Amino acid sequence: MSIEILRTEVKRLCQVEIKYIALEDAPRYHLSVESPANVRNGNEVYVIDCIPEEEKLQAEAHELGHIFIREMGLISFQPKGSEPFDFLLLELNNALSHRFVIEILSSRFYISNAFHLKLRTESLESIVQDINDFKEEVELLHAFGLRLYDIYKMIADLKNEVERLAGINDGVNASFSAAKTYLEPLQPETPKKEQESAINSYLNYLGYNKDMNDIFM
Ligand SMILES: [Zn+2]
Repeated sequence: MSIEILRTEVKRLCQVEIKYIALEDAPRYHLSVESPANVRNGNEVYVIDCIPEEEKLQAEAHELGHIFIREMGLISFQPKGSEPFDFLLLELNNALSHRFVIEILSSRFYISNAFHLKLRTESLESIVQDINDFKEEVELLHAFGLRLYDIYKMIADLKNEVERLAGINDGVNASFSAAKTYLEPLQPETPKKEQESAINSYLNYLGYNKDMNDIFM
């Protein structure tokens, strides 16, 4: 595992800050044991302090991987301060970037993705309940469809199970299918305008007809 090399390379690309957060302060940073790290304000990486050392390193590496892929050119979104659309943007970030984050961490930095894949797999345990609880909240259903697409792309063994879960709700399934059609071809090297156009196609397909230009950084 070469976290030091990853830290150095990301710091060469941008001014990144890494902060470890105590459990009692975690809610203020939207951190929990289930969601142990995140990137805020573009380049601030927050990692919960109370998990085992190996998991903490993998969680930090994962967030640095997000920044690395963004610096390579993949579009990413900042929250706009409007729930539940922010949750959709968060899962859009994940759906666009995770396959590249995972690939680069393992092949270039020899860092395991096991902890991340375990957390994403465990998130499937509650997704049926989540879909039922929020079946009137269309943005959340679309976000769940993106999460399923993300897991579908990352964990080959779960493909059939993920397709079955996507099929239980029309809103979830529409987002899952639209992600396969419009988001699948995007790479970090894809020109920005083409990335924006594909993301607009995904959103328009789901009925978001307002001008989406304000979501792009
Ligand atoms: Zn992630």
